[in-house]
Amino acid sequence: MEDGSLKTTKKIIGITGGIGSGKSTVAKFIEELGYPVYNSDFWAKELVNVDANLKLKIVELLGENSYDDNGAYNRPFVASIVFENEDLLLELNKIIHPAVKEHFENWVNSQNSKFVFKETALLFELKLNESCYQSILVTAEDNIKIKRVMDRDHKTYREIEAIMQKQMSEKEKIKKADFIIENNSDLEILKSFTKQVIQELEKMDL
Ligand code: ATP
Repeated sequence: MEDGSLKTTKKIIGITGGIGSGKSTVAKFIEELGYPVYNSDFWAKELVNVDANLKLKIVELLGENSYDDNGAYNRPFVASIVFENEDLLLELNKIIHPAVKEHFENWVNSQNSKFVFKETALLFELKLNESCYQSILVTAEDNIKIKRVMDRDHKTYREIEAIMQKQMSEKEKIKKADFIIENNSDLEILKSFTKQVIQELEKMDL
């Protein structure tokens, strides 16, 4: 629910879900319905390359090798360092998350829509739901999620299962979410569930 920390009259709706749940697909449907959608995970990856201030801070934390000779983010190098050192991972996230927050706030202010949507894997983990008007959780049965990600990413069953186990449990997320979209069926059904949620949101705002 809203805590008023972001000074805007726009209503921010968080979209989240575990790996392979279908949150990007729901976000795409919402965009097709004409609403602005911000993809936090995309921008977190993009800003390390385009935000000069953020680049400086990353070099300060992890060294010059964090960027190659052309100034491009050296993701494998950074991953190899933070994989070994959880404190550095926390420090890195402490730099990246505020940069995404600021970028998101500027984006929100540039939008001309009553509702703006924010797709992010870590909505509840980072307590980003606290600055949202409402939250949407996309869920699916574990086997279905794993099968979809295997088809999409060519990862093994075990690899995906390991990622799932590190994420906040679906049970926890269900307790926190305002709307839940179950994605155990086909894409047409997912689209119609998404439309129903949007209609509910529009009704809430009358
Ligand atoms: P991640 O967190 O791993 O990025 P995600 O939650 O954003 O995943 P999507 O990328 O939307 O999930 O969906 C995972 C894969 O499953 C995609 O290839 C998508 O096209 C497919 N998919 C999603 N929902 C359905 C569905 N109902 N029927 C068939 N395929 C689906």
